[in-house]
Amino acid sequence: MNPNTASAESALYVGRFAPSPTGPLHAGSLVAALASYLDARHHSGQWLLRIDDIDPPRAVAGADQDIQTCLAAHGMAYDAEVIYQSRHAGRYEQALSALAAMGLLFRCTCTRRTLAPGGVCVDECHAREARSDQVSSLRVHVPQGTMIEFEDAVLGPQTIDLAAEQPNFIVRRSDGLYAYQLAAAVDDGSGISHVIRGRDLLPSTFRQLYLQQCLALESPIYGHTPILSDSDGNKLSKQTGAPGVDIRHAEHNIRTALHALGQESPPPALTRIAELLDWATMHWQRQCVPR
Ligand code: GLU
Repeated sequence: MNPNTASAESALYVGRFAPSPTGPLHAGSLVAALASYLDARHHSGQWLLRIDDIDPPRAVAGADQDIQTCLAAHGMAYDAEVIYQSRHAGRYEQALSALAAMGLLFRCTCTRRTLAPGGVCVDECHAREARSDQVSSLRVHVPQGTMIEFEDAVLGPQTIDLAAEQPNFIVRRSDGLYAYQLAAAVDDGSGISHVIRGRDLLPSTFRQLYLQQCLALESPIYGHTPILSDSDGNKLSKQTGAPGVDIRHAEHNIRTALHALGQESPPPALTRIAELLDWATMHWQRQCVPR
């Protein structure tokens, strides 16, 4: 990137790390935190912490505090008060009303058994108006020919025919909770300029861009970095039993995360966390070339 472009990006840069409070950060989530932190700091941008607590059944009490303790132990300080998605019901309702007014929402009464692969509703739900007392989710319709294109800050140009891949998807679940796609699209489209996150979320980005376009929200720049997998190639996650990171080994954890992100190794003489992060910020490479 030429220096002029870098400073133009800095002036507007607001990044975020957005963990779900389902447990302490594991090695994979530390990689995601570090990628968004380093990209923000490299561009002299702001870096925010947003707790995606819109799914109370999956939330673990105290996890938001554990996440903050873990980030602090790894020297990653955020720039403003922690944001909680659970306080944004008003904006999600507004978004749903706007989508409904555009005729893009429909009630879906499908069960797992009646959904097609990829969780697509291929039943008649779209045509048939479900009774309001029936258990139903709300889906957004993706009209035929909806192409989504964007320039990924890490991976380069991306295009998909969203209607062909995902002709509809859930924006409010049948238990009444807001779906991740809706909440993330609305919040990231409300003042976030850069979303740097793991490659596992690339398919979600197309859906979130679609929602932002429908809602006339300003889409951030998205960049998708490598993720940590276990020996079977599955993404490290709480569901696959990834343990929380041991905050007593912060230097080791940061070095491991930098390696996973394809970054240069900081000199061994740097052992203090602040020095390590400064060095990694200065040498941050979005391309994340495997080493
Ligand atoms: N809270 C979600 C997660 O932890 C969202 C991440 C994101 O959009 O960056 O997977």
